[in-house]
Amino acid sequence: MDQKVAIVTGGSKGIGFACARRLLKDGYRVAICARSEDAVQVAGKELEAFGEVLALRADVGNVDDCDNLVAETIRHWGRVDVVVNNAGVYAPVPFLDFTAEAWDALFDINVRGPVLISAAAGRQMRDAGQGGRIVHISSTNGLAAEPEFAHYNASKAALISLTKTMSIELAQHGVLVNSVAPGWVLTPLSEDYVGSLTPEQLRRVSPLKRVAQPDEIAGAVSFLCGPDSTYVTGETLVVDGAMMAMLAQP
Ligand code: NAP
Repeated sequence: MDQKVAIVTGGSKGIGFACARRLLKDGYRVAICARSEDAVQVAGKELEAFGEVLALRADVGNVDDCDNLVAETIRHWGRVDVVVNNAGVYAPVPFLDFTAEAWDALFDINVRGPVLISAAAGRQMRDAGQGGRIVHISSTNGLAAEPEFAHYNASKAALISLTKTMSIELAQHGVLVNSVAPGWVLTPLSEDYVGSLTPEQLRRVSPLKRVAQPDEIAGAVSFLCGPDSTYVTGETLVVDGAMMAMLAQP
């Protein structure tokens, strides 16, 4: 019962999988979820090499699934100490083509899901009196705009804002709330685009001349969930290889 428990949404691949593996190595028991039952079970089996895993099918865009994810984790292990709101979707829509459905579908997953899951887990953290950590995976798209991604950009800016409000409200319960804003990361979500980048384009992505690996984002999440960040809350940690630090050059 003493071993801490983390929930990582979207843990079947990419950044979420790397976060789950890192938190297992850090000593947590980890619940992961994804929409694809098959994919989440396969990932769960692979992650079992690193510790105790609970693999659940859940769509964070679905209200009931959000509640069930937290309830099932608590039923299984009796506690929740960390939430990593990683699940997110990214698909272009030219601004003049927006429909209410396209906007809401993305916001339900990228913003409402993290709100509902954080609130359910936060109530448990409050009642248990043991504090906790919540980390939202936002994006540099929440700090600057990519054309044809108005909904995605706004959803990531919303997570950065949410981080601040939650950090203030949950401080009294010992719950620290932060966000990690990656730049480009090589994952199934980005591999088609990232794989096609020329060396010149990579130089514009980062002075390191490469994109990040998922483990490099997981390292930041581990820090924000670990013993060296006990006075860090309400913060967004940009992990972009200095992409946002660079002025555009002709
Ligand atoms: P990915 O490779 O597409 O993986 C996404 C994970 O989330 C999968 O496990 C996916 O499984 C799950 N997922 C998607 N929608 C879900 C939903 N509605 N409910 C539950 N699970 C869901 O994506 P990624 O590149 O690792 O991105 C992870 C997060 O980092 C996202 O929030 C993304 O916006 C953010 N990010 C990524 C980059 C990048 O360059 N890759 C940069 C900045 C920020 P299912 O499809 O089976 O549900």
